[in-house]
Amino acid sequence: MLDLAIIGSGVAGLTAGLYGARAGLNTAIFEQLIPGGQAATILKLENYPGFAAGVDGVTMMSDLMTQAMDAGATLRYDPVEALQPGEAGQPHRLLGPAGSIEARSVIIATGASPRKLDLPREEELTGRGVCYCATCDGALFRNRTVAVVGGGDTALTDALVLAGFAEKVLLIHRREEFRGSPILQKRVRENEKIQLLLGRRVEALLGENKLEQLLLRAQDGSAESVASDGLFVAVGIEPRTQLFRGLVEMDSAGRILTQRDLSTNIPGIYAAGDCRDTLLRQVVTGAADGALAATMAAEYLLTLGN
Ligand SMILES: Cc1cc2nc3c(=O)[nH]c(=O)nc-3n(C[C@H](O)[C@H](O)[C@H](O)COP(=O)(O)OP(=O)(O)OC[C@H]3O[C@@H](n4cnc5c(N)ncnc54)[C@H](O)[C@@H]3O)c2cc1C
Repeated sequence: MLDLAIIGSGVAGLTAGLYGARAGLNTAIFEQLIPGGQAATILKLENYPGFAAGVDGVTMMSDLMTQAMDAGATLRYDPVEALQPGEAGQPHRLLGPAGSIEARSVIIATGASPRKLDLPREEELTGRGVCYCATCDGALFRNRTVAVVGGGDTALTDALVLAGFAEKVLLIHRREEFRGSPILQKRVRENEKIQLLLGRRVEALLGENKLEQLLLRAQDGSAESVASDGLFVAVGIEPRTQLFRGLVEMDSAGRILTQRDLSTNIPGIYAAGDCRDTLLRQVVTGAADGALAATMAAEYLLTLGN
């Protein structure tokens, strides 16, 4: 039986593996695809503390995986297809193609994916102008024209973040009113670099090898094209938590609700990283979550005393 089962081997899951193994727990990390998660797709990670020259995501995640394995964690290339919580203090059960495995504690670290616009060429132009994280990629658009699409707090915040770098920010929203908070709306409207393009949706992404123009369609049916070096898509994030629906408490968007110690409503089950209801989804916060969740799981097991 495992002391700690971690579902997902992104930065949160691997860091949890490192901390769990170092705490002396018999720890296994389950991964359905390839280890590293989203962080392994980052070409150059420039905002992780201590890496002044930046680091590529694949190198960082493969070093982290080695570190967790050297500490004693094992990595299993098995998707978890179901989680059955145990009765008070009893082991939980993970089900997958490899069968059923018992674990005295579990960390859910299944991550999230940014919601896409589902436009033709969106995938091809991702990383060539189309981006999903202003905190991550905003600095690439210094003194350029860049667009943001969306109407919630993330889109408004992204526009403000980008206005710190870009020469001009186009904020595109399909409705006439934003959903985001009034204070952010006020700041956006007062920012001279931000131009609002309301009542319009992005219909097509245009450009040879990189994004150069956006084709916008207004509510009255008219079309216009605007030049833009980048498009930040901020239309929501989808936590990968469908498996746990009805099992652990979540908000209406499917983000797992956690306490200060990252515990869920089920004793012995924790959540870490982008899958939970967190205010910042970054590599550094994923790592911090993984460390905290594994440390708290170890403390929980001590309270069980067997
Ligand atoms: C393009 C891009 C650029 C980014 N740039 C930056 C940046 O510059 N700086 C920064 O700090 N952050 C950046 N981020 C955000 C950062 O990468 C994420 O916040 C962080 O990596 C999330 O880590 P995580 O471990 O919570 O989840 P994830 O990385 O999403 O990992 C979750 C893992 O769980 C696995 N999994 C899911 N379900 C199951 C299951 N049922 N069974 C087994 N395994 C499962 C998945 O396959 C995945 O490997 C970027 C994100 C993207 C997409």
